[in-house]
Amino acid sequence: MDLALNAPRAGTLQRWLTGPRVAGLPQPTESPVPKLSFEFFPPKNETLEQQLWAAIRRLEPLAPRFVSVTYGAGGSTRARTHETVARLVRETSLTPAAHLTCVGATCAEVDEVARGYLEAGVRHIVALRGDPPAGASGYTPHPGGYAQAEDLVRGLRRIADFDISVGAYPETHPAAPSADADLDFLKRKIDAGATRAITQYFFDTDIYLRFIDRCAAAGITVPIVPGILPVSNFKQVQRFSAMCGASVPAWMARLFEGVDDDAETRRMLAAVVAAEQVRLLQANGVDEFHFYTLNRADLTFAIAHLLGVRPQAPGGPEFGA
Ligand SMILES: Cc1cc2nc3c(=O)[nH]c(=O)nc-3n(C[C@H](O)[C@H](O)[C@H](O)COP(=O)(O)OP(=O)(O)OC[C@H]3O[C@@H](n4cnc5c(N)ncnc54)[C@H](O)[C@@H]3O)c2cc1C
Repeated sequence: MDLALNAPRAGTLQRWLTGPRVAGLPQPTESPVPKLSFEFFPPKNETLEQQLWAAIRRLEPLAPRFVSVTYGAGGSTRARTHETVARLVRETSLTPAAHLTCVGATCAEVDEVARGYLEAGVRHIVALRGDPPAGASGYTPHPGGYAQAEDLVRGLRRIADFDISVGAYPETHPAAPSADADLDFLKRKIDAGATRAITQYFFDTDIYLRFIDRCAAAGITVPIVPGILPVSNFKQVQRFSAMCGASVPAWMARLFEGVDDDAETRRMLAAVVAAEQVRLLQANGVDEFHFYTLNRADLTFAIAHLLGVRPQAPGGPEFGA
């Protein structure tokens, strides 16, 4: 085809070839291999337990920095979280991080859980305030409990030299008085001793990039690791996002239109959306990612591969680092 004969079409072709597509971004080989962490939730029954452990075993060779296990609303999974984390210590090369919340417990009870983790060999806690139990009108601190995540961080620091991660909200926590106040509370959690923040998931890359600029301007210097949620159940994510204050862009709703009953296509779309998101973040210098795996390995594994992460041989230099 003689492109010179048809200037407008040549322009279109040129844009198509050079436009901002994933393939046009710097190759992962040009960036440092990113550090990953994976989040799981404790299983409710035997079948889910098998699903979780299959996911853990598949992701383990990617040598994540740590894997974290959530703590059910109001501490409802206290025993299951502990069991899962303890098994990670016993049976894998992974570094586990246990989520811990303030809801529904006194400081002494929360401290006891933290000491239990220490005894089980766990050195990393994801310290959160937690959400009010289902049906409650709003958050009320337990009398005698830690009121906010900041207080929990301080309490943990008194117990041991834990590695402490906290939550961060690029689109502002829904109960915050303002975006600036929310950022100030994040800074207070860091100043109290947190070593890293992990963000709520987001879908537009610029939301995160603007947020880390604001964090830097506020003097926050610890890593603010983006939380990546590969979305294969769009309806569920829409419902959850309405509660947690994450926005769901209109383009995403259009993308998932008409595939409610087509799980296979939804998973392919999920891979494309997450792939574009992480590659754009990587092209902007982001070299650490936290994946909300929902206890499934396939999407996370594929996206990690796309970022340049490859399985390590057991015992290799990066394995379990
Ligand atoms: C990475 C990640 C993992 C999570 N894992 C879990 C989990 O395992 N289990 C679970 O139940 N929930 C989990 N959550 C959800 C979390 O518990 C909720 O978002 C909760 O509502 C806020 O927790 P936080 O630790 O961010 O709270 P905080 O930092 O304490 O903030 C909560 C709210 O209070 C405001 N605030 C903070 N300090 C003060 C203050 N001193 N005075 C007045 N207002 C204040 C903040 O602006 C915000 O609106 C997670 C969230 C994230 C981002």
